[in-house]
Amino acid sequence: MTPVTAIADLKPSYIREILNLANHVDIISLAGGLPCPETFPTQILEEVMPAIAADKQLLQYAPTVGYAPLISCLHARFQVPETHGIMITTGSQQGIDLCARVFLGHGDKVVTESPSYLGALQVFAIAQATVLSVTQESDGPNLQQLEDLFKAGDVKCFYTVPDFHNPTGCCWSLEKRQAVAALCIRYQVLLIEDAPYRDIRFSGTSLPLVSSFCPEVAICLRSFSKILAPGLRVAALIMPKRWLPLFDKVKQATDLHSASLTQSVALAVLEHSAFEQHLADTVARYSTHYEALANELDVLCRELGSGYQFDPVEGGMFIWLKLPDCDTYQVAKAAIENGVTVVPSAEFYPSSSKPQTALRLNFSHNEPEVIREGISRLKQTLVSTLGY
Ligand code: PMP
Repeated sequence: MTPVTAIADLKPSYIREILNLANHVDIISLAGGLPCPETFPTQILEEVMPAIAADKQLLQYAPTVGYAPLISCLHARFQVPETHGIMITTGSQQGIDLCARVFLGHGDKVVTESPSYLGALQVFAIAQATVLSVTQESDGPNLQQLEDLFKAGDVKCFYTVPDFHNPTGCCWSLEKRQAVAALCIRYQVLLIEDAPYRDIRFSGTSLPLVSSFCPEVAICLRSFSKILAPGLRVAALIMPKRWLPLFDKVKQATDLHSASLTQSVALAVLEHSAFEQHLADTVARYSTHYEALANELDVLCRELGSGYQFDPVEGGMFIWLKLPDCDTYQVAKAAIENGVTVVPSAEFYPSSSKPQTALRLNFSHNEPEVIREGISRLKQTLVSTLGY
């Protein structure tokens, strides 16, 4: 039997492999993008679950597009325009996959930021799309490069995470949001805006979604994994109504529909009177975790000197620590031996491009004292593998 080459050649996700180590008692994980379990809304769940368990309709087959009461709640929550509709997906990971199935044929061009979200790169590799990269600057993509790629022709999609990017934590400026939207309209490129971290902003001012400046050529992915719980596997795709029938056909063939049970749980939590306070508490908690990591890294960068640097972030779950030129896989491996996991930058680039030398560090999952111990172990690792 011969598997499809694109599948046989696909590397398994380093992050998912080392996630297994996160449960090992002696290892501190700064690697995965895991929410802090303390933020899971267990009290609200205990209250709402009995009514859900008694509703037999939720155990029946259901429409592919999603649970109607959840869809109407999200129309109001996200202020979705009349021209647009919502499809509920099994996490935004499925949303990215559906976008690729609907819009990307074999060899079609998709632009991603460099670096980019690994799970999206995997989707595009399986779709056998041609991935083109645009350099990410501290305020968003390099506009000249992006326009040159669009101008060269045949680019079908631009996949991006403008709010608290995974892996860099970068957040686009207003100017770049407007400029990218204008380019997508001018060159008729589909913008796939992935916004799972958007609600986790602990400083600065929220800026409009990029898709709000080009709604007719955009799809926006809103996941509830980071603000409710990833185990629910509930996210929403917001798109022009004319595309919904296409997505319906593809999702039917994928999984018929996302689980009604977890969709109704998500709805009950969102509608609960305590939810907005719960969300504010989650954001406040992540702010504290971030301060702990940023403070430790300030000291680390000062002590280890030139080549060590990170940009502060205003939200999300990650800091991107730039290192002097080195083999980041070797650093990550040595870090595991010292009891801490991190993700090497090469994981976030399509295989053809040259990775920047950096590590992605997560601050959401661990309490501040654990973060401090993790960075102390990382520092020992850096000193022993790279020296001062
Ligand atoms: N997009 C980005 C940028 C992510 O970081 C993640 C999860 N780490 C996903 C999508 C997938 O999230 P979900 O749990 O909604 O499938």
